[in-house]
Amino acid sequence: MFRKEVEESMILYPDGKMEKARVEIRYDPLTLQTSRIVQKTPPFAELEEGEDPFCPFCDGVIEKVAARSPVLRDGIAWRGEAAIFSNITPYSRYSFVVRLTRSHSPAVEDFRTSHFRDALMLIKETMSLIDCEDSHKYYHFAGINYLKSAGGSVRHPHMQYIASQIPTNYFLRLDEKAREFYEKAGVDYWTWLVEAEKEGERYVGETNGVDWVAAFAPKGFYHLIGVCSERTLAEMKKESLEGIGQGIIRYMSFLKSKSMNAYNASIFFADGRGEHFRTHIHLVARTPMSRFYWNDTFFMKIIHDESIVYTLPEAFAAEFRGFWDGG
Ligand SMILES: [Zn+2]
Repeated sequence: MFRKEVEESMILYPDGKMEKARVEIRYDPLTLQTSRIVQKTPPFAELEEGEDPFCPFCDGVIEKVAARSPVLRDGIAWRGEAAIFSNITPYSRYSFVVRLTRSHSPAVEDFRTSHFRDALMLIKETMSLIDCEDSHKYYHFAGINYLKSAGGSVRHPHMQYIASQIPTNYFLRLDEKAREFYEKAGVDYWTWLVEAEKEGERYVGETNGVDWVAAFAPKGFYHLIGVCSERTLAEMKKESLEGIGQGIIRYMSFLKSKSMNAYNASIFFADGRGEHFRTHIHLVARTPMSRFYWNDTFFMKIIHDESIVYTLPEAFAAEFRGFWDGG
């Protein structure tokens, strides 16, 4: 009944010190819902109100403090303004941080599609290194916690990339349900979704082969789903990665127009999965980061696992559509 699995992650510190971090993945004895116990507390900065913290991702600091990954040739890899390195609080065997921009706190207008393209290129390259080093099948996913009210511990824009042999709850559910769907329908769920939504009231637009749709049953505020026309990250060209970036930037601009800013995003990569799975991204807005922000993850979400939103997805899509070309 008390089942658990363990993944170990190797962290190389810039001074050459090595650390093995242990991640326990435990199954709830009754529901089998998993929890990850990372026996390493993230470094919480003690701050006075308004003070800008020491930033590990700024130029000049990142080279000195970023944890190295044994998978990468120099422990850290660069592309444009983006850099990929080990997460010092790993969530699985392979757990990375990808810095997105040189600027510590860029305005929405300062984000470029190239920032996301370069970060995703680094993830693509790192994924191929993991796959040749390790024959195990991994679940690959990326995530963004943008700003503190969305759970971001560091202000400097960054993504995470995680490869785990054990899927998260939602990834497992998606994978299983998508396989059932594919067996019945003969087409993957996300291709079907785009087809079904394309002329409908929840379709928002397209960026370089990525179709954007408001989620029918949203997991949070302004839940947007982007579906990639190329199935896996390995197949994606630079243009497709720019398409993902373009959608994220338009979403950020839309949030700004609503006086919002914080959001979470996650990309589920189809790499390592079968034909039933297609790479797609979820974006969910969070309560805006301001001095007295409230946290929208209250008991309904944290204990009941139930999402609450205040806008109909159809109304969100209509508004975002109007904003899409002119915004
Ligand atoms: Zn910074």
